[in-house]
Amino acid sequence: MNKNKKEKFKKLLLEEKKKILKSLGINIESLKKEDGGNKEESLYNIHMADIATLMREQEKKAINATKELKILKLIDEALEKIYNDAYGVCEKCGEKIEEERLAFIPYCKLCIVCQREEDLE
Ligand SMILES: [Zn+2]
Repeated sequence: MNKNKKEKFKKLLLEEKKKILKSLGINIESLKKEDGGNKEESLYNIHMADIATLMREQEKKAINATKELKILKLIDEALEKIYNDAYGVCEKCGEKIEEERLAFIPYCKLCIVCQREEDLE
């Protein structure tokens, strides 16, 4: 996958992450690190542990947040893969995941064929 495409998917992933954090009641602006890091980087640097802490701090009831947290984890894994140059490859069969599919679900881990098999199981 070329650099431009990776950038595009990274943006999609970060957008998705922002949306989910917002829906969990976490304000990204307040997380902005004081070291002058840019917003995108601080967004990338928010990890599951921070989110759990923040949710506790805000005494957020984790009603229905399970799905969101699961997606956040997938997003973090996908971002990790972008950085490791392993993004867009099916975890099951090792084939490339269709780009249209990634555009729709940027954090998906399986190609459409494997996903269908999983869904049948
Ligand atoms: Zn596959």
